[in-house]
Amino acid sequence: ISETISEELSPAQHTLRHVFGYAAFRGEQAAVVDHLVGGGDALVLMPTGGGKSLCYQIPALLRDGCGIVVSPLIALMQDQVQALRQAGVRAALLNSTLDADETANVEQAFVNGQLDMLYVAPERLLTPRFQNLMTRARLALFAIDEAHCVSQWGHDFRPEYIQLSILHERFPEVPRIALTATADAATRQEIVERLALHDARLFLSSFDRPNIRYAVLEKDNPRKQLLRFIRTNHDGDSGIVYCLSRKKVEETATWLKTEGIRAMPYHAGLDSSVRETHQTQFVRGEGIVMVATVAFGMGIDKPDVRFVAHLDLPKSLEAYYQETGRAGRDGLPSNAWMAYGLQDMVLHREMIEQSTAPDEVKRVERRKLDALLGYCEAPACRREVLLRYFGEASTPCGNCDMCLTPPQMFDAALPAQQMLSTIYRSGQRYGAGHLIDILQGRETTKVSERGHQHLSTFGIGKSVSDAQWNSLLRQMVALGMIGVNEHGGLILQESCRPVLRGETSFMARQVRATAPTGASSVRR
Ligand code: ADP
Ligand code: ZN
Repeated sequence: ISETISEELSPAQHTLRHVFGYAAFRGEQAAVVDHLVGGGDALVLMPTGGGKSLCYQIPALLRDGCGIVVSPLIALMQDQVQALRQAGVRAALLNSTLDADETANVEQAFVNGQLDMLYVAPERLLTPRFQNLMTRARLALFAIDEAHCVSQWGHDFRPEYIQLSILHERFPEVPRIALTATADAATRQEIVERLALHDARLFLSSFDRPNIRYAVLEKDNPRKQLLRFIRTNHDGDSGIVYCLSRKKVEETATWLKTEGIRAMPYHAGLDSSVRETHQTQFVRGEGIVMVATVAFGMGIDKPDVRFVAHLDLPKSLEAYYQETGRAGRDGLPSNAWMAYGLQDMVLHREMIEQSTAPDEVKRVERRKLDALLGYCEAPACRREVLLRYFGEASTPCGNCDMCLTPPQMFDAALPAQQMLSTIYRSGQRYGAGHLIDILQGRETTKVSERGHQHLSTFGIGKSVSDAQWNSLLRQMVALGMIGVNEHGGLILQESCRPVLRGETSFMARQVRATAPTGASSVRR
């Protein structure tokens, strides 16, 4: 019977089933495969774990000749080639890890038509030698993986990627497919421009990960908050905790261990053998909490990561999405949890202002940070904010902290004015702590040294708690009413004027009486 059924399968489905062992295509995969097999160009935006590889692997097998896959990640290349070979596919790779003999063998097989798929590092692909080889071989397609590497403003910029447009000029009849999980509109446009993909069909998958519950907390003893979160929701689960610095990774891992959690550190400063051992234990084992810098995670295929926690702000919303996307690949309920505070915001702003990057780059970085802070501070469904950033419309999800415990709003016009005028009157150079001291009427040494007890706003904010002042400040920074100078001082921005002049109302989020753990217990 299985014979008769398999005869009715399309060639693509047949390959999917008999080469890769999967029952059905997922999401846009089938449409992408058909389009490529038919000779069209494609731009595929699919979240991490969505199944991008099959989108070019199957067409490469179905079309005549060898599929060329450009990828910047050597480790990922090796894994893929190994998996393909195990499935009986004639796959090979060309990168700096091969010696001269091995290289010669692969090149020979390529021009002799003995390869279905060849993975090539971008710098190798661009060499005159390889360009020449390509003219002598039959080419099924070009797949450009991690296509966002063409974006000069992105974190993963690879100069060689820009030159990949020559593929189109030299081999116009060979279909091309560019793939990425970074989908904001600006990056998308850059990919189209730089890779000359104007005629490519766009395949845009939903970036929603409905099984992930998003939550953001105001930092208030973050270690304890983290511990409470893990104990309440994830006893014995595998998870990842991201920190900004190596030092904090070490400290947090040690502290979690003393609290009885099976935690391990991972960062680029560790010996590669240690990193490898920890990674293997995490992937194979159960219930390990990996405390890591962003060096950890790329290419890790562990389906049952139950939570991803951030003890520091990520770089951008894209980064946040990628990092949290490592949770719940198996589709089961998982948590994305983050604790952050005003200090994180100020630090990130300061870093941008202090950097020596060109203005153009700074502008992009500011915009990215604004989007991230907007996510943290918007009194709206987290998922809606996140998906909107990726150009996707949605409705409140019912599965994030904002939906589950809607924030209380209050009219904050008066305290906002008080804060703004305190910033103005004290000369736009102080941080939150000092400003709040003035508003609370505290005669600290700093206050008396600067004579700030004589400011008209001294002591006028006593009815507002410190926590609420901090929260209000964060919201105003996130909304762009208050900026940060290169020394971390808070300054007024143009957009604060209507509030300062009392021309508009200003609704703000009230701090929660007791900080929630961020996510109620995940039901299984
Ligand atoms: P991406 O490159 O988009 O991050 P991958 O191509 O690595 O994703 O695929 C992610 C995982 O999903 C892999 O383990 C892959 O084998 C699996 N996968 C992809 N497509 C299918 C499918 N149609 N059916 C079942 N599993 C699939
Ligand atoms: Zn929601």
